[in-house]
Amino acid sequence: MSYFSFKVIHTSKKSRARVGKIYTPHGVIDTPNFVAVGTNGALKALDSKTAELAGLQLMFANTYHLMLQPGADAIAQAGGIHTFMNRTQPIITDSGGFQVFSLAYGGVSDEIKSKGTKQHSNSVLKINEEGVLFRSYRDGAKILLTAERSIQEQKKIGADIIVCFDELPPYHVSPESLKRSFDRTHRWEKRSLDEHLKNKNNQALYAVVHGGLDLELRKKSCKILTALPYDGFALGGSVGKNREEMITMLTHIMPHLPEDKPNHLLGIGDIPSLDAAVPLGIDTFDSAHPTKAARHGLLFTKNGRLRAIQGGNATAFRPIEDGCTCYTCQHYTLAYLCHLFKANELTAFTLATIHNIHFMVNLMADYREKILRDEV
Ligand SMILES: [Zn+2]
Repeated sequence: MSYFSFKVIHTSKKSRARVGKIYTPHGVIDTPNFVAVGTNGALKALDSKTAELAGLQLMFANTYHLMLQPGADAIAQAGGIHTFMNRTQPIITDSGGFQVFSLAYGGVSDEIKSKGTKQHSNSVLKINEEGVLFRSYRDGAKILLTAERSIQEQKKIGADIIVCFDELPPYHVSPESLKRSFDRTHRWEKRSLDEHLKNKNNQALYAVVHGGLDLELRKKSCKILTALPYDGFALGGSVGKNREEMITMLTHIMPHLPEDKPNHLLGIGDIPSLDAAVPLGIDTFDSAHPTKAARHGLLFTKNGRLRAIQGGNATAFRPIEDGCTCYTCQHYTLAYLCHLFKANELTAFTLATIHNIHFMVNLMADYREKILRDEV
């Protein structure tokens, strides 16, 4: 297949870490790499050109949000998501399944904290073999999301990489419920593949490895999915309540994924997790954390996170970080940023976001350099 391919450039002698290139119709993604989240087809506070200037190679967008607003048909009419948002570089969309889970349980961390007591909210009406019936958070309309519908919506949106429709079972789940969800999600993934193969549309389809923290189920998931012609593999489902659980799980399952296909760790992008997961051979990571932190005035530096408004910054007439080549650090001082946050000026969000994205882009370039030198 010419429109999508993956090439491993180098595998570290020290670990499973690898440097690779994912080729898509909208350009190359150097791996390992960070994927910023632009839920509604926009990185919050950043337009597409600015995101490209910050060096962001792959952006994540959410099908659930886009199908409700502006609707996948409107995006198709615009000529696809790239044209619509004027982004020339690669985009990945998810299936909407994750949002179904978030609607039902209030988000992963909330659900974990609730110790399993949190039940379905009124927005999810039914989850059965066919799919999920839910109420739109926008206008209350009933919507049935199925594997076929998810793929059709993602075809209309037109991202370079799309993801199979799956169910994210809660962290607090009985072994019987996990197994039931496991079997159903793999049937949904097969239906997603069948729908995708009817019209590949120059898109790559990633399957999602499931099984929660049950290592045998995770291995079984790898076995089922790698036997089918998916273009890559995302690691999803509950990956644990802390980093240790996630790393244990990844350490066991990464050897069960094919080396010649790209993989993606869903929803993880904090720096300690990257430090732990890059050596395990993860290729791409998405997280809203760096952009969200930026809007809260938390600036990433090599010495950790810096609070824009912390004492002393009012007269810090220097860049956020010396030597940073980002647009913000090239043109503005930390003192000015501190002032913008204190004055509730919206420009603060833009400038902080540019810096944090640039930081992540550079961090990943550093990982690639270290892997090439067999230091990671
Ligand atoms: Zn900077």
